[in-house]
Amino acid sequence: MAGILFIISAPSGSGKSTLVSQVRSLVEGLEFSISYTTRQPRGSEEDGREYHFINRAEFERMIAAGGFLEWAEVFGNYYGTAVAALAHAKAAGRDLLLDIDVQGAMQIMQKRPEAVSIFIMPPTPEVLERRLRNRSEAEKMTSEDVIGVRLREAQKELDRLREYRYAIVNDDLDVAVSEMKALVLTERGDPDADVALAATCLTSAGSPRLVHALESFKAAQ
Ligand code: ADP
Ligand code: 5GP
Repeated sequence: MAGILFIISAPSGSGKSTLVSQVRSLVEGLEFSISYTTRQPRGSEEDGREYHFINRAEFERMIAAGGFLEWAEVFGNYYGTAVAALAHAKAAGRDLLLDIDVQGAMQIMQKRPEAVSIFIMPPTPEVLERRLRNRSEAEKMTSEDVIGVRLREAQKELDRLREYRYAIVNDDLDVAVSEMKALVLTERGDPDADVALAATCLTSAGSPRLVHALESFKAAQ
């Protein structure tokens, strides 16, 4: 089973971090790639746990040295996946999970077409806005600008959803966790996998929940 590369993308505030951390506690053998970023730590984040926090000069040195499998500029900061993350997961006999933005995901899909891509989407723009507000209040960083930029960016990212193999609508967290677990186990060929549930998440299946979510974002444009 080792060696599958899972790419996960989602508009900021969709609940991707929440979902991924629950799935990792339920599914063994999933290594999470800790990205490098030039943004400041948020809330209770720690260097080396959520991200490796470095400055722009250090990041640019890593780019020049070919240290990144992919990198992108998101909301004015650099983010990148270290080449070393892939080798590390392989050596440990684990699958690797990349939480990266749409630009980075497109780079990996080109370089590694066998990667399994998953897009997590919020059920409606109203729910996304509420989650962004709740989170920024919890982190005492309420900024209308930040929320507005992230909502507009979400609309753009959704245009690329069809390029991902799977899409999960994160409405009820328990349902979304079951779906993600099902598709990870299905991709591994695990006999315990709920293959039928995973199939409903194929982007090409166009489930009613996915269609409804996409329509609600279209209507808000
Ligand atoms: P992301 O990693 O996609 O930016 P987070 O995991 O930080 O998003 O989630 C954003 C906010 O939404 C958090 O406050 C989180 O607790 C909440 N959240 C995540 N998933 C759900 C869900 N299914 N239902 C309700 N709230 C959720
Ligand atoms: P945040 O600042 O909210 O943690 O992340 C902002 C965006 O950057 C998210 O869409 C997240 O998936 C993306 N991101 C995090 N790490 C990487 C990375 O290594 N590469 C790329 N391309 N995007 C990343």
